[in-house]
Amino acid sequence: MTNIEYVFVAQFFTGLMLAVVFFVAWRTIEPKSHTLSWSLLFVVVTLQYILNALVDLVPFVGIARDIYWVVVNAMALMVQALALVGFRQRAGMRGWPRALITYLVVVEALVFWFTMVYFHQGLRMVLIPWSATIMLAGCTWILLRPGRKLRATEWGAVVMFLLKAVADFASGAAALAQGAQPDERYLELYRQINFLTGPAMVTGLGLFTVLILADDLADRMRTLAITDQLTGLLNRRGFEQAAASIFALARRQDQTICIALADLDHFKAVNDSHGHHVGDRTLRSVAKTLAAGVRAGDIVGRIGGEEFGVLLPWTDPPSGLEVIERLRRMLEANPLTTKSIRFFVTASFGVAQAAPDHDSIYDVLKDADHALYQAKQAGRNRVQVHTSN
Ligand code: GH3
Ligand code: MG
Ligand code: MG
Repeated sequence: MTNIEYVFVAQFFTGLMLAVVFFVAWRTIEPKSHTLSWSLLFVVVTLQYILNALVDLVPFVGIARDIYWVVVNAMALMVQALALVGFRQRAGMRGWPRALITYLVVVEALVFWFTMVYFHQGLRMVLIPWSATIMLAGCTWILLRPGRKLRATEWGAVVMFLLKAVADFASGAAALAQGAQPDERYLELYRQINFLTGPAMVTGLGLFTVLILADDLADRMRTLAITDQLTGLLNRRGFEQAAASIFALARRQDQTICIALADLDHFKAVNDSHGHHVGDRTLRSVAKTLAAGVRAGDIVGRIGGEEFGVLLPWTDPPSGLEVIERLRRMLEANPLTTKSIRFFVTASFGVAQAAPDHDSIYDVLKDADHALYQAKQAGRNRVQVHTSN
């Protein structure tokens, strides 16, 4: 076997392994279209390596060799496209926009043209590597698009994209330098860049992309762990976590925060007279009203069965009280309807402010809970502010 054949065999097994890895990832950790696109990408990579190895075993000549070239280039183009399509799908974009399909057809038509109609060695060889540079730039753009915070695994992928884009650009330039006819000096340079950088980079890209999938799953799990499934608000754990970090920040910046705890009034009666599912719908509606009634940056959570927490950062008691009183009135005025009935729910609120003698957010929550108890005692459907005596 020649050295290049060893490289092809190694690449074949790497491609096959990554195709299986992505297929398994699709079946287990991320059953989404982008995972499948990437699995398909490595299937095409594997087929491409088989064809690459074949050309040494079966020496194609004349028109057969030209057709072989056009086919292998079409496969390489498909690999680039599937990489981009996967990142588009993951970002929630349409996988195969018409512009992308047009682009692929044009590039492949040019490969065909400069191979079989108007032979030009440099031009027919530069198209695919320079197209790879463009497509990798596209992948990078999708990850880096403005307003998006990049995760560590995505940074890894971006670095790989850029390295591969540079290598592809360089190998394309070497190919183009040949001019219209093959030139062994530049051809050798082209091969050196391709074979020295290609295998490690394809493997690296595959690994970083698998890491991104694992990271996506971890991210979903983290969100799930702090989300209340019924209302979509933060659950107790999420609310307390967010409140604790805002409490610490407020301490450092010498700022004040307000916390309100709300408990629906006579909610058991809603379940008892209309059924549990109407109770659930009521909870969802209350959650929506509360979330809509506060500003961005305020935090709302469902911290128990029919108990909600509202945290207002950088808010003093008079303005906090105003906000909470408004929420109470919104709930009171919000009718809930079923097929046959129309009813209202109210809530009692206890409000407390972070004070210098509070050691943690739990002390503030305790004060708010105490005030809530007083609001219930005083007749419900009211806002009670905690007083220190
Ligand atoms: P109070 O004004 O004193 O708060 O009266 P209450 O009836 O609201 O108080 P209580 O704590 O006795 O009842 C709370 C009820 O909330 C009881 C429980 O069935 C209901 N509840 C708690 N979680 C859920 C839920 O997820 N779905 C539904 N439908 N009901 C729930
Ligand atoms: Mg309760
Ligand atoms: Mg209640």
